[in-house]
This record gives sequence, structure tokens and C-alpha cells, in this order.
Amino acid sequence: MKILEEERRPAVDRGGAGEGPGTVVMRAYAELNDFLPRGWRQRSFEYPMTGGNSLKHLVESAGIPHTEIELILVNGESVGLDATVRDGDLISIYPVFESMDVGSAVRLRPEPLRRTRFVMDVHLGKLALIFRLLGFDVAFPGDVPDDELARISSEENRILLTRDTMLLKRNTVTHGCYLHSQDPEEQAAEILDRLDLRGSVRPFSRCLDCGAELKPASKESVLHLLEPLTRKYYDEFSVCTECGKVYWKGSHYGPLLELLNRLNIPVTVNGDEDEDED
Ligand SMILES: [Zn+2]
Repeated sequence: MKILEEERRPAVDRGGAGEGPGTVVMRAYAELNDFLPRGWRQRSFEYPMTGGNSLKHLVESAGIPHTEIELILVNGESVGLDATVRDGDLISIYPVFESMDVGSAVRLRPEPLRRTRFVMDVHLGKLALIFRLLGFDVAFPGDVPDDELARISSEENRILLTRDTMLLKRNTVTHGCYLHSQDPEEQAAEILDRLDLRGSVRPFSRCLDCGAELKPASKESVLHLLEPLTRKYYDEFSVCTECGKVYWKGSHYGPLLELLNRLNIPVTVNGDEDEDED
């Protein structure tokens, strides 16, 4: 259990720019502790600067991906991830969610992306489906190398969602989110909370197969594609603008409404746009 023996050793003395790589003292807050070995959680711990004096490198080599960090204080002053540190520095690391007024402190997150779009790794198939159901633009390229996921994220300005911390430590990944839960619905709730997305949800506006937008379709235009019972009982249809798949409020509609309810998302049943024009 015990990883570090000396629980209470104070910060090493400052300014002693002696030989050797030196040591910093780190402390992670709130859920950032999940990324650390047990003995380093919820407390200050000493960390050797063997890998150099780059703040980003030190924090990530301790286990915390840069995408998860909102604010870093070094000796009480907020700094960017490109800062360098010195022997004895005290590093406090805060997550995106720590509710605290950081005032004029340096926020590490880049500007939010103009439109919230996602790319998800191959393990997140169920989450991809849920997010498409909620109307978000989700790229789900399947089993592709990490390089490709990072490229899609940066070139297409998509937020990379994954449980792979190594992927999030890549420099090219500027917008990423680590998912703490392994349960797809909990993961969806995590991201809706973290990115404050509940107001951006547009349920039933995207194709669950390919992720493209749906457009309303007249019954006549899709009649030839429908089973007899569907023809008989349904009058409202929409069709995928990419793959042509036809959607209607069939038997799966009830369970989907329940899912939205569990995710705390108010449902406006007819998908017409109210305010969104540009
Ligand atoms: Zn489609």
C-alpha cells in the first residue's frame, strides 16, 4: 500500500541549486488524484526532476494528462504549462472542474472550440451512439492508430474523448477529455457536466449510424422504404443527409426518451430550431 514512507517531510529547501536533478513538491486536487498512484493522492509528494525541468513533462510523467488541468500554481503563482521549474518548487495542480475563482490566473485551457465536436476512440462506441442521439457531431473512426485519432482531433478541431492517458499527453492534443467512468451513461453525464453542454443538446437530429444531420422528409418521399405497419402508424419522418437512413418515432423512441431523462436533459419533442441561426 505504502508508496512513500515519509508522509510529513516538508518541502525541500528552496534555492539550493545543488547537484543532481533536484526535486519538486507536487499536490493534485480533486479528481486529478485519480491519475496518481495511491500514495500520492490528496497530499503533497516529492517528485524528482530526473526528466528535466519542463513543467508539462513533470506533471505528465507523474501521471496527469495536460488536457485535464485547468490551473497550475508554482509557489503560489499561476503559470503556463510551458514554464520551467526549479529544485524545491511547490506545484499545485487543479482540474478543469475545481470550482474556485481563479480570477486573473493563467488558465491553461485554450479557448473553447467554436463548435463542440468530438472524436472518440474505439472503446467508446456506446458513448458515441449516445452523443449522436443527443445531436452532437461525433467522429468514430473505429480501430485506428493513436496518431490518427490525434490528427483528427487537431485538424478537425474535435475534442478527443478517451480513457487512454497516454493519448491525452500528446502535445498535438489540445482539446481532450479523460473519462473517469467506464459506464457509457455516466461518461455522457461527465462530459455534459464538464463542458456545460446540456443547453446544446438537440435530440434526434443526427443519424445514429453515420453521425450526419437528419432532415425532415415527407411521407410520400420515403413511402417505398417503409414496412406496412410503419406506413400505417407513422406520419413524421426524417432522413439522413449522408447515408439516407430513414427515422421515425418508432418503438425505440420511448427508451430514448428515458435515457434523456436519466441524463437530466429536457426534451422538446419536435426537433424544430428555435433560436439557432447562423
Ligand atoms: Zn446516416
